[in-house]
Amino acid sequence: MAEKQLAREQITGKQSVPDEMRAVMIRHHGGPETLTLEKIETPVPGPGEVLIKVEATALNHLDIFAREGLKGPGVPEITLPHISGVDIAGTVSYYGPLFPGQQEITKEGTRVLINPAIGCNECRWCRRGEPSMCPDYKILGEHFWGGLAEYVVAPARNIIPVPDHVSSTVAAAIPAVYTTAWRGVVTVAKIKPSDIVLVVGASGGLGSAQLEIAAAAGATVIGTASTEEKREKARKKGAAIMFDSNGDWESEIMDWTKGQGVSAVFDAVGAPTIRHSLRCLEMGGKLVLSGATAGDSPELSIREIYQRHRIILGAPLGNWEDFLQVTSLVWQKKLQPSIHKVYPLEDIAEAQLELEGRKHFGKIVIKIS
Ligand SMILES: [Zn+2]
Repeated sequence: MAEKQLAREQITGKQSVPDEMRAVMIRHHGGPETLTLEKIETPVPGPGEVLIKVEATALNHLDIFAREGLKGPGVPEITLPHISGVDIAGTVSYYGPLFPGQQEITKEGTRVLINPAIGCNECRWCRRGEPSMCPDYKILGEHFWGGLAEYVVAPARNIIPVPDHVSSTVAAAIPAVYTTAWRGVVTVAKIKPSDIVLVVGASGGLGSAQLEIAAAAGATVIGTASTEEKREKARKKGAAIMFDSNGDWESEIMDWTKGQGVSAVFDAVGAPTIRHSLRCLEMGGKLVLSGATAGDSPELSIREIYQRHRIILGAPLGNWEDFLQVTSLVWQKKLQPSIHKVYPLEDIAEAQLELEGRKHFGKIVIKIS
């Protein structure tokens, strides 16, 4: 402890950071009961890194996958013990030693949002600003300890300041789902006002962001959700019509489009819904995939894809341009992330259960300080 304090003083001359912090630890994979709220050593930022005092961290299905120890293609292996939490807003405590030529992004005490996408900064994809294409791509909160703790270490180049009029709760709702939604709707699918867009699971964090961005792009947006309460919220967010996800929505949507189908479908539910999503597409329509929260290995018909000129597109977490464009629109209040509920750190198990129960609309956020 004394050594760490000394390290801090040598770096900054500051002693305001406590030696210990509260953190939600994953020490064993399993249900929410395996999470433990513990006091552990506060991390010290290394070269090019910054220590952030966390104010708010939004939950994602990634937190559930990390806790359960999900395995499969494209899923990073979690090293235990682990602290999850990808979407983090907080204030700058202090910088570690900066690289030659590197400057502090903001002053200590400034409120910031972290872009969780971390690339090697050397490869040709990183040089194009595409860290999620980097062969060595890592996500803060998956490969490194994340924001379900009072402090987190992040690369200094990954923070941006948050304007005073935006709360940390709203800022924390942006990185994972809004950057992914922007990537899918704007950068990848290039949705335009003449498009009819179907969002499957339009009530979740990602789905509600896709709905909002597609509607803002001028498209006619329709969606599916499991309860009338969620469908009403989706209509208020811009959906022209909502369908019951427990009903025969494929037939209902084909009837509603007079048998023609929709221009694009956004489906992050996965195996249970993807074939219905494909069949809802018009000739040459686009299926955009950004997740598989309910199953990764669907049964597909190849003829249903190529004979109708359909296109399947992958849109994971976006690049720096996607992140900066979508945060800018939230700062301008042109996009307004839906916050379902804010929980204190002590209630993390209850908050994760609510996320898994899929009864929410928008983001579930953990208020940390
Ligand atoms: Zn790279």
